[in-house]
Order: sequence, then C-alpha cells, then structure tokens
Amino acid sequence: MSRVAIIGAGASGLVCAIEAARKGHQVTLFEKNSKVGRKILATGNGRCNISNEKINITRYHGESPSFAKEALRRFDTFTCKAYFRALGLEMREGEEGRLYPMSHQASSVVDLLIHEARSLHVNVLLESEVTKIEKKDAEFMLHVNAQTHIFDACVIATGSVAMPTLGSSGSGYDFAKSLGHSVIEPYPSLVQLISDEPFLKEASGVKMDAGVDLYIDNQKCQSVQGDLLFTTYGLSGSAILEVSRKASKAFVDGETVHVVLDLLPNLSREALASLLQKRLSFAKGKSLSLWLEGIIPKKLALFILQREKLTSLKDASSLGAKEMKKILFALKSLRLHVKATKGFESAEVCAGGVDVRELDAKNLMSKKIPNLYFCGEVLDIDGDCGGFNLHFAWASGYLVGQSL
Ligand SMILES: Cc1cc2nc3c(=O)[nH]c(=O)nc-3n(C[C@H](O)[C@H](O)[C@H](O)COP(=O)(O)OP(=O)(O)OC[C@H]3O[C@@H](n4cnc5c(N)ncnc54)[C@H](O)[C@@H]3O)c2cc1C
Repeated sequence: MSRVAIIGAGASGLVCAIEAARKGHQVTLFEKNSKVGRKILATGNGRCNISNEKINITRYHGESPSFAKEALRRFDTFTCKAYFRALGLEMREGEEGRLYPMSHQASSVVDLLIHEARSLHVNVLLESEVTKIEKKDAEFMLHVNAQTHIFDACVIATGSVAMPTLGSSGSGYDFAKSLGHSVIEPYPSLVQLISDEPFLKEASGVKMDAGVDLYIDNQKCQSVQGDLLFTTYGLSGSAILEVSRKASKAFVDGETVHVVLDLLPNLSREALASLLQKRLSFAKGKSLSLWLEGIIPKKLALFILQREKLTSLKDASSLGAKEMKKILFALKSLRLHVKATKGFESAEVCAGGVDVRELDAKNLMSKKIPNLYFCGEVLDIDGDCGGFNLHFAWASGYLVGQSL
C-alpha cells in the first residue's frame, strides 16, 4: 500500500481517487474549494454532458493528441457507461450522441462520485490548497495550509485556467514547471467571440440555427452548422464554441479573424433569391423590417437593415435589384470581424497545458520523476464540445488510478 496524494477533486481527481483506493492505496484528495466537483456542477448548463456515444481520437486536439489513445482505449464509451451505472447513475442519450445523467442533474454525478470515494475511505480534505510540491528522495512533500504532508506518489489533477472562478487557477502548470516539466502556453477554447461590428447589439438575444465559416487571415479554415446566439458583445452558441479553438489560436499568432454567417442554412442562395423576389408581390405598404420579419427574427432584420444602410427605404415594394442583392448577401454571407475571444474567464476549456511528450501514455506517469502523474485538463489535450472533455477527464483519471 502506498500513500497517494491527488491534487484536485474535479472530474479526473475523483475518478482517480476511487480507482487508487480500490487498488488498496491510502489516498488523500486535496481540494482548495469548500466543495468537490464545482466545475462538474456547471457542465452542460447544470445537466452534465458526461460523455458521448462517439468518443474518438479525432475529437481531441493538442501538440500530440494521439497520446490520449491509450486512455480512451482503456475507458471507452461502453466502459464509461458501465462505470457510472455501477456507481448507481443511469444515463440518457441526447442530441449528437451526447450522454447525460438520467436525472439531468450534474449534482447526481458529483454526489455519487463523492459517496463512492468516501465509502472507499479516501481522505477528502476540503479548503486545502496545495501551494508547493517538493521532491525529496523517493517522497513528495506537499505544502497545504501551513502544514507539510508526505506521500509516495503524487497525482496532479488541478485542471486548467478555464473559468478560474470554479477553482482551476493554473497551479498545476506551476507545479509541473517546478518539477522540471514543460507547459505548452494555454489559450482559451470552447469560448464566445467578441465582435466590434457596429449595430450588432441590435440583434442581441436572437438564437438560431446558422452556418458559420471561420476565416483566418482571409482564408476559410472551418465550416460548421449549429446554434448561434447574438449577444451584446458578439457571438455565442455551440457553432461559435466549435470554431473558437482555431480563432483563439489565431489571436495568439497575431492573425486576423472573421466569421461569415449563413443565417438561412437550409435554403440555397437561389431558393432564397426566388423567395425574396416572390415576397415583393405582397410588399406594398409594409416596412422593410416587417417584410423581412416574415423570414427572420425582427431584431436580426433591424440589425441587417442598419448595417446595409437600408433604413431609409420605408416601403419594401420600393426595393431595387441592388438593395435586394445586398439583403440576399447579408442573409447568406454575413461577414463579421472578430476582435477577441471572451478569454479564460468564460472559456469551458483550455488548449495547451502540460506537454504530454514528457509523460508515458500507458500510465500518464512523468518520464522525468517516477511516481508523479498528471490527469485531466491540466494536460495538453482538449476535446470538442459534446461530452469529450469530461470523458477525457474520467478516462485519464481512471488510467492513472489503475496504474498507481
Ligand atoms: C461552464 C462549463 C461547462 C462545461 N460543460 C462541459 C460538458 O457539458 N461536457 C464536457 O465534456 N465538458 C464540459 N466542460 C469541461 C469540463 O468541465 C472539464 O474539461 C473537466 O471538468 C476537467 O476536469 P479536471 O478534473 O481536469 O479539472 P476540474 O474539473 O477543473 O478540477 C480541478 C480541481 O482542482 C482543484 N484545484 C486546483 N488547484 C488546486 C490546488 N493547488 N490545490 C487543491 N485543489 C486545487 C480545483 O478547485 C478543481 O476542483 C465544461 C466546462 C465549463 C467551465
């Protein structure tokens, strides 16, 4: 039996603690917050998109994403479902293979995990922030609340710097560096985009299905279709989160970012042109915005008309070919400049993190320091939106716990 320290009672730390305790180790789980799993509680809008039916290595990113293969092989979707079912949690499938707890409550996941950890006698220390890790001979000395604790193995499961209000402040990167590891500079991912386009505020609150093309330095580099939400600062919604990783990286590299929106993705340009033409026959006496309201939300119509400088045209029937072309273009190819992302404070995850090339993929142990392990988002592995990040947190925590 070894004395094992796990730093961070988030998704990866909790599963790691359970597995390590099942193997008979004496496990201490340090958590700086007064509660465990605060970030889990915020996931999936409180419903916790726990995993996905289509877990696949292609949905993961980083300098060396194939590193995650072994963790995902050992803990695939089937194993994940069986694992949580054994804890007492039933699941249900949502859109695009997303898996949620049947209760649709993230708290069910946290409650069952902590119950299991406590039943296995994991020593859970809350309000216990680890501030320093020292390696002395074969032992790890952890500094916590002015005390020093000694362990045979140490697992860093501290998360990233995404949404630091929930606990992950980036201390894992500092620990890694202090122990001789390299860290790929983190940047926000799955994050909203800020636009400085005039009049965009007019459309704030409009939610719709849209096509989103991402342009970096005027080159198209990603196309998605999904939920789009106009906000007071710019754009949100699942389609925006999906393209945000590449946008965020472009800002790090000093490149320019635009999105081109297709506001009616299920109508071809030709079909829309003929629909608009047809609608002219009953445009007489209608304001342009009222005429457009028949096909798009009013707030969006007002935004488009202001942007295209068409507000002076009072009657829709007076639309000329040139104005019609402008409207058609705005509905199918609305080009918006993106100034920045909403940053770490709003990001769901971070790209970057501890360089996985310095770890053994079979057990996530440091190649530099024996019995030092890393799991979860602190690593330079990040997943797509849709349950892929939590899945990697469970899978990597499971792999470490089993390997200890
Ligand atoms: C709003 C939001 C919604 C999300 N929704 C989803 C979703 O639906 N599906 C999905 O797959 N992913 C989602 N994610 C991402 C997912 O939550 C994370 O990828 C996952 O929680 C990472 O797990 P982790 O264990 O690595 O880190 P965390 O869950 O962040 O846990 C790290 C823990 O370590 C603690 N800690 C940090 N430093 C110290 C220290 N020095 N001493 C002691 N304790 C410390 C922190 O307080 C924290 O509790 C979402 C994220 C956010 C922010």
